[in-house]
Amino acid sequence: MNGSGDDIRRLAADVELYLRQQAGRGRDWVIDEGRLPVAAAGIPATANAAAPSSDPVAGAAPAAAAAPAPEPVAESAPVAPPAADHGTERAAEAKAAREEAFGRECDRFVAGAMEQIARFRPIEKESDLFSAPEAAPVPMDRAEKARRLEALAAEVAVCEGCKLHETRRKTVSGEGDPDADLVFVGEAPGRDEDLQGVPFVGKAGHLLDDILKAIHLTRDEIYICNILKCRPPNNRDPEADEVAACSPFLARQFEILQPKLICCLGRHAAMTLLDTRASLRSMRESLHFHQGVPVMATFHPAALLRNQQWKRPVWDDVRKLRALYDALRAENNPCAG
Ligand code: URA
Repeated sequence: MNGSGDDIRRLAADVELYLRQQAGRGRDWVIDEGRLPVAAAGIPATANAAAPSSDPVAGAAPAAAAAPAPEPVAESAPVAPPAADHGTERAAEAKAAREEAFGRECDRFVAGAMEQIARFRPIEKESDLFSAPEAAPVPMDRAEKARRLEALAAEVAVCEGCKLHETRRKTVSGEGDPDADLVFVGEAPGRDEDLQGVPFVGKAGHLLDDILKAIHLTRDEIYICNILKCRPPNNRDPEADEVAACSPFLARQFEILQPKLICCLGRHAAMTLLDTRASLRSMRESLHFHQGVPVMATFHPAALLRNQQWKRPVWDDVRKLRALYDALRAENNPCAG
């Protein structure tokens, strides 16, 4: 043993096999399938350690791909009892318990969020009947929204409001259903987006598609845009003057779209919309508001590609997002759902 990658792989496989055998013998070992060291290190995981197939966020992550279970190392090693079956059973039980607990947490989250949202709504008093409430959104049908978004994109295309216009190839205004109730906001176009003029079409975009699919949504049902409409050179972080110059475009997109719910992808989007320097971790904990519109935040898909440990949190976040989205839509259409 010289501490090489092979040695570490072999040791991790032995330890995992031992734990699984002990679990089968009724010992009180706990194997957290999502945190096995082999998976975290990008070392091929065993079949049992593969992410649940119902979890497409995990499925999309390259290092989590299932590989054959390791063979027992020594010929003289005791023949393992049907430990794998017990181990699998226990894992299934643990998963079911986790899902049940998550279901309760999700219900609590939606109930709390709906209460908060109700508190934010203007109270309709009799005296208000003769005076339109301030900043009431202008009612628009889908065609009118589409027309206005197109006009806005044409303005974005010729914008020279900050230095990014010097290096961009195409501006990236936004894409999706002009009448969407749910809007996703990312940070800024990357290389692929800069070439195509469409948001989230690179690797992170493909992962976003998978995430959407996991919650039974497609790009046609939502709207996707970014804080910045032009690519920062080498995908560097947006700078304050760029955010300031570009923010009015996003504000106008919200005015047109009139979303019921916004999801910030990553810290930059959340910091900008919520005007805070708080960590994304803390922003994920609760519901926020931007100009009276409920906002949730989760990790950016590009960050998720780099940090596999965030798969589970994102999967939980987007399921809560979907549940709240359904609750908000059901309000206007009590027959839905
Ligand atoms: N990352 C973003 O934040 N936005 C995109 O459009 C692409 C990648």
